[in-house]
Amino acid sequence: MTVKHVLNDQLAMGYAAGALPEAFDIVVAAHLSLSDESRALVSSYEAVGACVMEECDSVELKSDAFAATLGRIKSSDTVIEKPGPKGVLPEPIQKYLGGDLEKVKWKSLGGGVKQAIIPTNDTAQARLLFIPAGQSVPDHGHRGMELTLVLQGSFADEVDEFARGDLEIANEDLNHQPIASMDADCICIAATDAPLRFNSLLPRLLQPFFKI
Ligand code: ZN
Repeated sequence: MTVKHVLNDQLAMGYAAGALPEAFDIVVAAHLSLSDESRALVSSYEAVGACVMEECDSVELKSDAFAATLGRIKSSDTVIEKPGPKGVLPEPIQKYLGGDLEKVKWKSLGGGVKQAIIPTNDTAQARLLFIPAGQSVPDHGHRGMELTLVLQGSFADEVDEFARGDLEIANEDLNHQPIASMDADCICIAATDAPLRFNSLLPRLLQPFFKI
């Protein structure tokens, strides 16, 4: 499948090195099961990592390594990371929950929006979000990094439109209000390493209760 919004180098490198917080690791692993391009990128960083471990003479990434890896993934049977089982949730998330959507214990955030926190062993948070078709989440900024991966439906914000497999990477510079498209309920997984900065009072007051 073609995914428009993919990993950046920093995250691909962090993932390849096993250096991401668990919450980000889950989101990236789920994204990788949906994006050939991101798998190729991570794979080229893994190759660099292996080279460093083996003390190769040159650890420079060849300029064509990424294209070569992507070509290999697309043309051969070599599957670097297996795509998940059929279902809405990719395999890395299903592993955490022990199943697909039927295992998700949603909690209401109001306005039909629901969340389910995925327990992880560090301070970064991972959560599944359910946004009814046409509904928006409160507009907010970010105190750290927020990774959002669309699993069903799509949403649009100030940046672009994001559909299944697309990853939005947001940081302190971005203020946005994601709105689910009218044609389907949107389900995403989001990871954050710091509380969001809500612009209106009510979400700000409720924030501690929802750990968002
Ligand atoms: Zn955000």
